[in-house]
Amino acid sequence: MQETVRVRFAPSPTGALHIGGVRTALYNYLFARKHQGKLIVRIEDTDQARFVAGAEAYIVNTLQWLGIEADEGPTQGGTYGPYRQSERKAIYQRYAAQLVAAGKAYYAFDTPEELDAMRARLKAARVAAPQYNAISRGWMRNSLTLPQEEVADMLRAGVPHVIRIKVPHQEDIRFHDLIRGWIKVSTAVLDDKILIKSDGIPTYHFANVIDDYLMEITHVIRGEEWIPSTPIHVLLYQCLGWEGSMPQFAHLPLLLKPEGTGKLSKRDADKYGFPIFPLAWQDPDTGEYTPGFREKGYLPEAMLNFMALLGWNPGSQQEIFSKEDLIRSFAIERVGKSGIRFAIQKAEWFNQQYLKVKSDKTLFAYLTQALEENKIAYTHEKAIQVCQLIKERAVFPQDFWQQGRHFFVQPDAYDDKALETKWNAQVRLVLQDFIAPLEALQSFQGDVIKGILTSLAVARSVKMGFIMPVLRVALTGSGTGPDLMQSMELLGREECVARIKTFFLARPITHT
Ligand code: GLU
Repeated sequence: MQETVRVRFAPSPTGALHIGGVRTALYNYLFARKHQGKLIVRIEDTDQARFVAGAEAYIVNTLQWLGIEADEGPTQGGTYGPYRQSERKAIYQRYAAQLVAAGKAYYAFDTPEELDAMRARLKAARVAAPQYNAISRGWMRNSLTLPQEEVADMLRAGVPHVIRIKVPHQEDIRFHDLIRGWIKVSTAVLDDKILIKSDGIPTYHFANVIDDYLMEITHVIRGEEWIPSTPIHVLLYQCLGWEGSMPQFAHLPLLLKPEGTGKLSKRDADKYGFPIFPLAWQDPDTGEYTPGFREKGYLPEAMLNFMALLGWNPGSQQEIFSKEDLIRSFAIERVGKSGIRFAIQKAEWFNQQYLKVKSDKTLFAYLTQALEENKIAYTHEKAIQVCQLIKERAVFPQDFWQQGRHFFVQPDAYDDKALETKWNAQVRLVLQDFIAPLEALQSFQGDVIKGILTSLAVARSVKMGFIMPVLRVALTGSGTGPDLMQSMELLGREECVARIKTFFLARPITHT
């Protein structure tokens, strides 16, 4: 019988999740569903110093928003709980004691000063990376070097100590990664990692391995940054005699900056003005508020599709995948090794695709709700026409309001940036010439209007690239929006003429 696939998403509640962390959750979810397995959410909250209130709720809300349903976890419950590491301390201590008894781990009593002295001494001896390891442990104060009775006395007296793993001197640790193949690391580069800290709390490495084993995790799917930790994890499985139950590993590629080099950071997102958190986050220390993808108008289904392709290659040209398609098609072997350049334009493109296929009723509500909130009168018929027009290019739900409001009210401001290099005396003359024919026009239709405008521009040797942006700003206040000629049709003759005149008054040309 094949064992049931059990994977876990194991975030530390240290703040908002980054998009990379959410992708990890998604890949675990897709893998679990594809194999009719289980997804477990485990909160790795052993690092009290980095614990942030509200972060766990944030994780839960994120998964809920995206429809990444876990089968077990602190909110779902389950038979492998508790699912918060802070509630499992006794378990870790028991296994640590077992390792010490088996000679695979040891007590270390060194003070911070003694540790500093050890590092200084190694540095002086030109050791590049001084560490507590198979060699240096021999001259430190631990249960391997001190007489047994002294150790027992110190433990009884409650002398502060940690428990460290006894890493073998020079052995190769090998493990297989489903994405990267075989990885080999010599224990010579590993240090005797702390398993239990002096406050009795386990470190990430120890708690992570114990829990993966006890929760019968079959596949560990996580970010590439955890590769350097994996040899210690593998060693722990060996020391605990659990090699037979070791999960398979799959380390996901990094998300890279938009320039393509270096890890994507919040600073990059701030610099380019795109979100990096799924949901808005208010930093409890600094009070800084950062809107998330949700607040910027990204749809959960677009986010799922976008994130799924950040590393996974479906092996076809297909780009649009529903959640069900993703579950069917996802294959961990088709996740690449190399980092993925983060392109927000792609996320926008997906959002646009998913917005386009929303029902007219939904799109209509995006516009009319905002109109109502702003107490702007509208007719049903016109609202429908405006929605149809905006739908073609809209990227976010709020575009329906931002680009649609001017069909119902005159602009109250003009986009300076859009006018900056375009608005000049020549353009004004062309638009001036435009008013009379507009007023006289029998059939107020886009192609006819465009024809008139083009010939006027030609007559004055002004490029349409100057005219159109100014006309758009004059009519709508904004530099971007739906097709301009169709917009004019919808606005109607009187409104167009009136708005151009108002614009002339508001933006007189004082020089030629
Ligand atoms: N708690 C770790 C994190 O914050 C989990 C890493 C792992 O999946 O092993 O990402």
